[in-house]
Amino acid sequence: MPKHADLATIVVDDMEVSCATIRAALTRTGYTDVRVAGEARQVLEMLRERRADVVLADWVMPSMDGLTLTECIRQLDEETNRYTAVILFTAKEGVDALVEAFERGVDDYLTKPLDERELAARVHAAGRISTLQNTQLETSAALSRFNRQLQELATTDPLTGLGNRRYLESRLNALLLETTARGGATCCVMIDIDHFKAVNDRYGHDVGDEVLKSLATRLRRAVRPTDIVVRMGGEEFAVVMHYPDIRLNVGIFERILETIQERPIITSAGAVALTISMGVCCHTHGTLPAPEALLKCADEKLYAAKEAGRNRVVY
Ligand code: GH3
Ligand code: MG
Ligand code: MG
Repeated sequence: MPKHADLATIVVDDMEVSCATIRAALTRTGYTDVRVAGEARQVLEMLRERRADVVLADWVMPSMDGLTLTECIRQLDEETNRYTAVILFTAKEGVDALVEAFERGVDDYLTKPLDERELAARVHAAGRISTLQNTQLETSAALSRFNRQLQELATTDPLTGLGNRRYLESRLNALLLETTARGGATCCVMIDIDHFKAVNDRYGHDVGDEVLKSLATRLRRAVRPTDIVVRMGGEEFAVVMHYPDIRLNVGIFERILETIQERPIITSAGAVALTISMGVCCHTHGTLPAPEALLKCADEKLYAAKEAGRNRVVY
């Protein structure tokens, strides 16, 4: 928290005398960082130049009044992710006006003529409010930066517990290198649920999530433990299989398809029948393809499977 004297304040009043009086009072109480403005617009310029902890503004001013200024300050605060406490000087506004002022974002008010000790106490309290708010804003900004960093490093899909696209890309590269060096085959299988939007529309997003989780488990069980199963995003999954022998059995892909459609998935909203479409692309020998190229190829086959009527595999 800034020390009493470090608090940055701005005083705005269209009456020059009034400004001077308040500045003198604040200085006497120990506030050294006091800027003074003759109209509201100037305050906004000052704030853009350097933030303030507390703005003290006259309610009634010719071009822009204190309430409108408060709204502009709140807007600016939102843009800059800061909080500026606002105290309005009032003459004898009624309770209704004061309630409106608080609703529009004013933190406190002071009745003219000002009492110097009350002024000091209220400015101190307002400074505490803005400091607390700013500490909180900074903490949450730091947390969300940290979360973004974690997300960039994460290789697990939180919903299904499968690996994610990043995980697949890292493993695929290694497998392709091995296939190129030692032979065999690496196959990339893209899987997309057919008409999944209809499942969400009918049962809701939560049940849709249950379906995605169960499908993940079923896919995992449909392949060998050494095969890589990931959720690419949305309702799209991928499987990467490595075979030491080129004579791979394409029946395995048909089997995955059958495993999904032979039994409906049981959810809290009842049984949900599903089909999937699959696109398969394999790398056997020759020059090393980029992992993205293999994924793109499988994606195109998946698209062809959808075009051909869904619930099928295209190699
Ligand atoms: P198609 O047969 O052409 O694939 O039809 P589709 O409805 O499956 O395809 P589309 O891509 O139009 O819709 C995919 C839907 O997947 C849209 C979105 O509501 C849903 N979805 C994406 N991510 C999630 C998720 O994390 N949870 C749930 N419940 N639904 C998701
Ligand atoms: Mg789909
Ligand atoms: Mg899709």
